[in-house]
Amino acid sequence: MSIKKFSNSLKSAEIVEQTVGIYEEAVRLRRKIHENPELGFEEHKTAEMIANHLQDLGIEVITGVAKTGVIGILRGEKEGPVLALRADIDALPIQEKTDVSYKSKNPGIMHACGHDMHTAMLLSAANILSQNKQHISGTIKFIFQPAEEMKGGGIMMVDEGVLSNPTVDHAFAFHVWPELPTGVYGFRNGPMMASMDTFDIVLKGKQGHGAAPHQGVDAIVGAAHVVTALQTIVSRETDPVDSVVITIGTIEAGDGYNIIPEKASFKGTVRTLNENTRKEVAESIRRIIEGVASALKLEVEINYNFTVGYPVAMNDPTFNEHACAIATDLFGEGSVQWLSRPSMASEDFAFYLEKVPGTFVFLGVGENPENPMKLHSDVFLPDEKAMIQGISLIVGLAINTTEKIQ
Ligand SMILES: [Zn+2]
Ligand SMILES: [Zn+2]
Repeated sequence: MSIKKFSNSLKSAEIVEQTVGIYEEAVRLRRKIHENPELGFEEHKTAEMIANHLQDLGIEVITGVAKTGVIGILRGEKEGPVLALRADIDALPIQEKTDVSYKSKNPGIMHACGHDMHTAMLLSAANILSQNKQHISGTIKFIFQPAEEMKGGGIMMVDEGVLSNPTVDHAFAFHVWPELPTGVYGFRNGPMMASMDTFDIVLKGKQGHGAAPHQGVDAIVGAAHVVTALQTIVSRETDPVDSVVITIGTIEAGDGYNIIPEKASFKGTVRTLNENTRKEVAESIRRIIEGVASALKLEVEINYNFTVGYPVAMNDPTFNEHACAIATDLFGEGSVQWLSRPSMASEDFAFYLEKVPGTFVFLGVGENPENPMKLHSDVFLPDEKAMIQGISLIVGLAINTTEKIQ
C-alpha cells in the first residue's frame, strides 16, 4: 500500500508530539476510571466525570442520553463533515484479581474489557482537539456510550438520535485488542465482528416414572436431540466458508434419578458474519426445534430475541482505508496490520455502522501477543502505552477528515 501524505495544517508528527505531551494525564485519567468501575446504565459517576471534563475543555455537553450516556460537540473553525467518535464506558460484573495500585474499589465490578482505556483515550483526544479548533473542518461528536456489555446501550443511543442533529456522516471507534502487539492497529474491510442473537427454548413433555418411559414424554431426551441437531445448521446447512457459531450455554431439566421431567429449557447464542445468514440461521433454528420436538411428541416454546441482538459490525472499506492511511502516516506501515479474519465476538458499535459508513478498529494492547491475557479476564491488564497510538489516531481522523469520504 502506498503511503498517502496529508496536507492538513496539523501534521502527523505534531499530533504525536501533542499526544505524548498529555500521555501522563491520559494514564491518570484511565486509572481513575479503572478504580471506579460501574455497570451498564449505572455509570452515574463516570458520566459526571466525563461531562465535567468536557465542560472544562469548553466543549458543548449533552447528558442523560440513553440514561447515562454523554455527548460532547466540538465545532471546528472550517466547514466540513460531522464525525462521531465513540467510546463505551461500562464495566463488567467481575471481581478484579490484579495487584495494581489502581485496582477496582467497587467489589465485584471491574473494567475488564478496556472500556476505561477507550474512555480515557477519547477524553484525551477531546483535550487536544479543543485546542486545535482552527485545524478542524466540520464537527466532532464525542459519544460516551453506556452499557455495551449485552445491555444494548448502543441501540438506545442510536434510537435517541445520537446520529442526528447534527447528522453524522462517519463514525469511528476502537476496541483494545490483547492479541495484537502494543500500539499496532488492526484493520479489516467488511465484517469486523459478528452478529449476536440469543434464544430461549422450553421443551414440554409429560412427567412420569423413570422406570416407565412409555407413560411419559421425556423432555431431557428431546433436549439432547435438539442440541445435537442444532449443530447440523453449522455443519450441513450454511456455507462452510461463511462462519456461524451456535452455542448452547445453559441447559436445565429434571431433579432426581428416577423421574422423567416434564420440562427442559435451554439458552443459547448465535454468531454470524452477514445479515442474510443471520436471518436464515434464525429460521433454521426454529424449524429444527419444532421438527425434532414434534417427532418426539414434545411441545415447544421458543423465545428468539432476534431484535435485541447486535448486528454484524460492518466496516465501510472507503472510510476504513482512509483511517488506515492516517494511521500509516502517523506511525508508519509497521504500525498497521490487515486482519485476515473477523472476530466472532460482537460489539454494539455495529448499530452505528448500520446507519453511517465508518469503521471499528482494534488497538493492540498485548505486550506479549504470543501469550495474551484475555478480554473479560479478572487479571486483564492492557498495556497503557497503546494509548499514544489510540489518541493520535482519533486526533488524526478528526483533523484529516475534511470532507465526506465516498
Ligand atoms: Zn466486553
Ligand atoms: Zn468491550
